[in-house]
Amino acid sequence: MAWFRSFIQVSKIKSSVRPTKPTHFFTPLSHFSSAAGPAEAAVRERWGLAPTGPDDKPRVVVLGSGWAGCRLMKGLDTKAYDVVCVSPRNHMVFTPLLASTCVGTLEFRSVAEPIGRIQPAISSAPGSYFFLAKCTGVDPDNHMVHCETVTDGSNSLEPWKFKIAYDKLVVALGAEASTFGIHGVTDNAIFLREVHHAQEIRRKLLLNLMLSDVPGISEEEKRRLLHCVVVGGGPTGVEFSGELSDFIMKDVRQRYAHVKDYIHVTLIEANEILSSFDDRLRQYATKQLTKSGVRLVRGVVKDVKSHKIILSDGSEVPYGLLVWSTGVGPSPFVRSLQLPKSPGGRIGVDEWLRVPSVQDIFAIGDCSGFLESTGKPVLPALAQVAERQGKYLAELLNGVAKAGGGQANSSKEIALGDPFVYRHLGSMATIGRFKALVDLRQSKEAKGLSLAGFTSWIIWRSAYLTRVVSWRNRFYVAVNWFTTFVSGRDISRI
Ligand SMILES: Cc1cc2nc3c(=O)[nH]c(=O)nc-3n(C[C@H](O)[C@H](O)[C@H](O)COP(=O)(O)OP(=O)(O)OC[C@H]3O[C@@H](n4cnc5c(N)ncnc54)[C@H](O)[C@@H]3O)c2cc1C
Repeated sequence: MAWFRSFIQVSKIKSSVRPTKPTHFFTPLSHFSSAAGPAEAAVRERWGLAPTGPDDKPRVVVLGSGWAGCRLMKGLDTKAYDVVCVSPRNHMVFTPLLASTCVGTLEFRSVAEPIGRIQPAISSAPGSYFFLAKCTGVDPDNHMVHCETVTDGSNSLEPWKFKIAYDKLVVALGAEASTFGIHGVTDNAIFLREVHHAQEIRRKLLLNLMLSDVPGISEEEKRRLLHCVVVGGGPTGVEFSGELSDFIMKDVRQRYAHVKDYIHVTLIEANEILSSFDDRLRQYATKQLTKSGVRLVRGVVKDVKSHKIILSDGSEVPYGLLVWSTGVGPSPFVRSLQLPKSPGGRIGVDEWLRVPSVQDIFAIGDCSGFLESTGKPVLPALAQVAERQGKYLAELLNGVAKAGGGQANSSKEIALGDPFVYRHLGSMATIGRFKALVDLRQSKEAKGLSLAGFTSWIIWRSAYLTRVVSWRNRFYVAVNWFTTFVSGRDISRI
């Protein structure tokens, strides 16, 4: 009976013994282990996707819905593959515009792109799915990933575990904000990486503004509440500081006139701000930020308490809002994976973005890096790297399927074509007040065009508007920018 055959237990299937019948359906796996008592197993193991048969469409499992994973899914030929995406969020975040949502220049939905829009097959093709879950383990020997649902603390369902068999696995898990082990950062600072972080920053900023206007608050408390501190002078920290100062100059002065003299922004950086940019641009940014009222502090954070930061020279910086933006590194999960690693602990890949020593696993984006043996440097954690790796890998996998190597363990003999080559297109950053920096040099040492000011700001806006993934969001962004320009930012605390 067909239905019975598809109800096989995946846990019993070894990679060498693949079922001959299609198993498109959700297949019960080893149900919640009888060996473990209910108290021990807080998370049940329930269902999964069994391995595909030789006559089925092969399945590409994509871990992560960021720049790399989404660009890959967009480019995959869904006539050749079923696509299954596993991620704790059902959208891609257009990160370069995330800072603008914290102060209301843009709405949150303008920077979130639903996955079903990026790859429509995920919502409609019978064998393609999106699973709101996080990957908890990779089993290369059995071509299987272990996952656990993400219920976000909702009590509507208990979380559960499941497994998915893959023909090709693409690991695109991104990176995590680095705290350098500094005490108190995780508990007290907000990282700016996801839409919910931007929402938290906005809520806190508006709450502090309103509390500081309530009778009975001391001068000292008012100053602390309205002191916004950003740690990290890279492009993200600078862009956020610029947005914040713009918000203060234009909107707070008008609509919170009682407290306008109390609100301040401090940007703390251990070295120079925007270290990857041209010297001239860096000086320009420093001058403009200072002019907009951002206090630049050169210092190293030693400890973070609930209301103040302690710097290594012993000075204390009280704050009401603390945003942490000091670069990224591999997540503990990526570090824990038993896969080869590149310098810095990312998943090691060869020139074709394959993870060597295992079959059918690829890694792209911020979680991956060239292995030392390739002689290539680990690429910077940038959207332009992740996006181009996603595009390259989609083409590579489409070619592999065409050559008959789509199924698990069947592409060993297939020529993969040209290796991945990265060419840096330049960097951009906005610094507020209709000004931005555009640095089109390929590297810090190279010669090339770099400019700053209003023209750069127009280039910055135009470039990102065209990069927004869908027409729908492009329209939202354009309308938000226009509305903000004409009538100021929305300051309601909803
Ligand atoms: C505020 C901000 C501004 C930026 N601006 C720029 C810019 O202007 N230009 C530029 O080039 N770069 C910029 N970047 C960097 C850029 O966003 C990253 O390099 C890019 O997002 C990397 O893409 P990725 O797909 O590797 O990772 P991400 O986009 O981070 O995606 C990782 C995905 O993996 C998922 N995930 C994590 N753990 C698990 C798990 N266990 N199981 C399943 N899924 C998991 C996450 O939910 C996410 O969907 C910016 C970053 C930030 C935060």
